[in-house]
Amino acid sequence: MLEEIYAHVLRRNPGEREFHQAVREVLESLPVVVERRPELCDGSLLDRLCEPERQVIFRVPWTDDEGRVHVNRGFRVEFNSALGPYKGGLRFHPTVNLDIVKFLAFEQTFKNALTGMPIGGGKGGSDFDPKGRSDAEVMRFCQSFMTELQRHIGEHTDVPAGDTGVGAREIGYLFGQYRRITNRFEAGVLTGKGVGWGGSHARPEATGYGLVVFTAEMLRVRDLDLDGMRVVVSGSGNVAIHAAEKAAASGATVVACSDSGGYVVDEGGLDLDLLKQVKLTDRARLSAYAEQRGADAEYREGGRVWDVACDVALPCATQNELDEDAARTLIGNGVRAVAEGANMPTTPEAVRALREADVLFAPGKAANAGGVATSALEMQQNASRTLWTFEKTEDRLTEIMKHIHHTCHETAERYGRPGDYVAGANIAGFELVGESMQAQGI
Ligand code: GLU
Repeated sequence: MLEEIYAHVLRRNPGEREFHQAVREVLESLPVVVERRPELCDGSLLDRLCEPERQVIFRVPWTDDEGRVHVNRGFRVEFNSALGPYKGGLRFHPTVNLDIVKFLAFEQTFKNALTGMPIGGGKGGSDFDPKGRSDAEVMRFCQSFMTELQRHIGEHTDVPAGDTGVGAREIGYLFGQYRRITNRFEAGVLTGKGVGWGGSHARPEATGYGLVVFTAEMLRVRDLDLDGMRVVVSGSGNVAIHAAEKAAASGATVVACSDSGGYVVDEGGLDLDLLKQVKLTDRARLSAYAEQRGADAEYREGGRVWDVACDVALPCATQNELDEDAARTLIGNGVRAVAEGANMPTTPEAVRALREADVLFAPGKAANAGGVATSALEMQQNASRTLWTFEKTEDRLTEIMKHIHHTCHETAERYGRPGDYVAGANIAGFELVGESMQAQGI
């Protein structure tokens, strides 16, 4: 039956490779559930689970600083609302297309379920490239994007947030346009807002911090400790930098990170204040970090950050960035754990190689759920018109990440797959979403 469902997904979504990959990975975890819980796994439920509830594609025209008009494409895929309003980020990147948004929205559905918060799954974005664009251009783009998106979202309907290329600046412009058009200060319609106007403390840090909490829990099962370990992260955006910050605070040495141009190795440990200045404030290339850091850091143009030996690898850049060859290099260098900060950054072949070598592996839908979990905490604060302290918010985040780790670990054991976090996350997420869909009828 699972093969039939997958064949149907292939036929209905021709050429959508990332979406196929994400669906296949979940279905591959389910035979044991079909066997034990046939009442939950009827074909109709699985069929509905693999088909988005709604997919919106729209035109986004905007004017650059020279007065030229550009046209981009906007997307919002509202995948599943059995557990709550659709929830998931917006990605602005030239590689964005329907396939990518659909795979991300599918993953998001299970990730959000694992948080235990009342949020469904969705994702959106545009093929707009913010790189090299002025603030004014980004603002005009965001305003045009929201002019259409606003009719599809709402605090009880669909609640977007940031993802690659969408941070506090973009959320500000998007929220402003929503407020102007609707004449409503509806704080809960977007998350990732500034703390002064409805945002939550610890939201920018949440994905990276949560990733490290999950990684530490996973290591603990094997009586290992992050303290004293060498860590490599890929990427140098919000997720990577905050993962590095939390890992360093846990006693690890973060020796390398990357961007699309190359990677930097800093044997004494990355200077995180400088990295934040270069990447988050100046929006400059990583090479500028090495120039300012001086002799301590070495910048390698091109190349692969996974060639740097480490105990823990945290892929925090983009989908399918860690392939089988990279996995074998990491294994050869003695890696003990790989945890996904990005969404699906490890190819299926690489995951297999890591599992066969008995390397701990945490899939993104469990390990990087701290961001969206804190978004749900932001919605909670908005609904009660309060602002929690940083400490309270971080404590809740830590609790949620430990709960997700426990759920995945326990589910994997219960279904006879001890230590398999991929199976644990997929099965636990599926049970939560599937049971709610079944209770709510066809
Ligand atoms: N884009 C993030 C993710 O992949 C966060 C989504 C959100 O906060 O809604 O989970």
